[in-house]
Amino acid sequence: MDTLIRGGVVVTCDPRARVMEADVLVGRSIRAVVPRGGRVSTPHGIHPLRVIDASGCAVIPGFVQAHVHLCQALFRGMADDLPLLEWLRRRIWPLEAAHTEASLRASAELGLAEMLVAGTTTILDMGTVRHHDAVMAACLASGIRAVSGKAMMDIGEGVPRGLRESTRASLRESERLCSDWTGQGDGRIGYAFAPRFVLSCSEALVRGAAERAYAMGALVHTHAAEHPNEREAVRQVLGDDDVAVLRRWGVAGPRAVLAHGVQLTDDEARVLAREGTRVVHCPSANLKLGSGIARVADLDAAGVALALGADGAPCNNNLDPWVELRHAALLAKVRSGTTSLPAARAFRLATIDGATALGLGEMTGSIEVGKRADLVVVRVDSVHAEPGGDVVSKLVYACGARDVAHVLVDGELLVRNGELTRTDAPRVAASGRQHGRELVARAGI
Ligand SMILES: [Zn+2]
Repeated sequence: MDTLIRGGVVVTCDPRARVMEADVLVGRSIRAVVPRGGRVSTPHGIHPLRVIDASGCAVIPGFVQAHVHLCQALFRGMADDLPLLEWLRRRIWPLEAAHTEASLRASAELGLAEMLVAGTTTILDMGTVRHHDAVMAACLASGIRAVSGKAMMDIGEGVPRGLRESTRASLRESERLCSDWTGQGDGRIGYAFAPRFVLSCSEALVRGAAERAYAMGALVHTHAAEHPNEREAVRQVLGDDDVAVLRRWGVAGPRAVLAHGVQLTDDEARVLAREGTRVVHCPSANLKLGSGIARVADLDAAGVALALGADGAPCNNNLDPWVELRHAALLAKVRSGTTSLPAARAFRLATIDGATALGLGEMTGSIEVGKRADLVVVRVDSVHAEPGGDVVSKLVYACGARDVAHVLVDGELLVRNGELTRTDAPRVAASGRQHGRELVARAGI
C-alpha cells in the first residue's frame, strides 16, 4: 500500500542536508518528496493510499544502530557495575552459554521490539555462539532491516564450555548462516562474520572470518580498542595493539566494522580513515563499563567513517537510539570542546553515516527518492520540545523515544501511533521475564 505522509517537516539527511516542509509519498521505496504547496502526483494512483497526518511532527530517516547484541536483551539488569573483562567472564559468557533456542528467540524479540518502537530501522547485531538461526528468524519476522552474525570464539581465558567451538566449526557455521539468510525478507536481512574480539579468537579464525566475509559480500564485525585493561591484555598476549593485530589478520577496509574505538590513537585513526575501516561509537556502554569517552570529534576530523550503537542491554541498559544520539553529542563537548559535534553532525551519525558504515548507504539512511522507505514520524510539538531551536536541535537535544509516533521499514508501518503492529509487546515483555528467570537459574550466577 502506498502511504502519503503529509504536513511534517522533513529532515532529509541527503547530501545537501535539506530540511523542509514537505509531503512524502512512499511505496516500498520513497516515490516523491514534495515541498509544501507542490502537487503530489500519484503515478500508482490505482493503489489504495494511506494518509499519515504528520502535522506537528518531523519526518526523519529511521535510526541506524551499528552495534547491538540482541542475544543479551534478556540480561538487562543482570550485569551492572562491573569492569569489562570481569563483566564478560562472570556474567555475560555464563548467561550466553545458558541460552536455549527458545530463550534466544525471546531475547531477540524483546530487543527488536524496544528498538523498533523507538525508531530504529536498521541494525548491525552480534549474536552469541550457538542457535543463531533463532536471532535471524526473529529479525526477519520483526520487519526491521538487520545485518547480524553469530559470535565466533575459539580460544580465551574463562570461556565456558557452552561457548567454546573449534576454528573449523565456527567458520563452517558462519558460512552456512551467511548463505542461508543473506537477502531474505526481500533484501532486508544481511550477514556479518563476527569474531568476538582479539582475546577470544585465534589468528586462523579471524583470518578465515575476514576472507569469507569479503568473498561472500558480507561484513566482518568485531570489538576493538574498548577498555584500557583489555588493550593491555592484548598487548601482553600478542605484543601489539588490537587494531594493529586485526589489521594484520585482514580486518580492515570498508567491510570491516569495529565497535567502540575508545582508545584509538591519532596514528590508528589515520590508518582507519585511509583504509575506510568503520568505527561504531557506543557512548552509553563506554560510560557504564568505565571504558572512557571516545574522541569522536577527532576521529571525525581525521576522516574515520563513524556510526552509533547502543551495544547490549546489560551494558547500557537500553537500546534507545535517542539516548546514544544525545550522549554522542554531549560527550563530544566534554572531550573536545563545546562546539564539537554540533546537532546536525550528530544526527547524521545516527542515520546516513550509520547506513554508509554498513554498506547500505545507497539503500537507506536518508530521505531521497528511490531509497527504501525506512522512515520515522516523530512529534516535535510536545511541552518538552517547544519552542526549541531548529528542528534538528529539537531532535538531538530535546526529543526522545516517547515522541515516536510511526515507524516504517520498506514502506510497511511497523509502529502506528506508538504501538508495534507486527509484535504483541505485552506478550514479548512477559516472555522475556519468564525466559530471563529460567536463564539465570540455568546459568547459576
Ligand atoms: Zn558489544
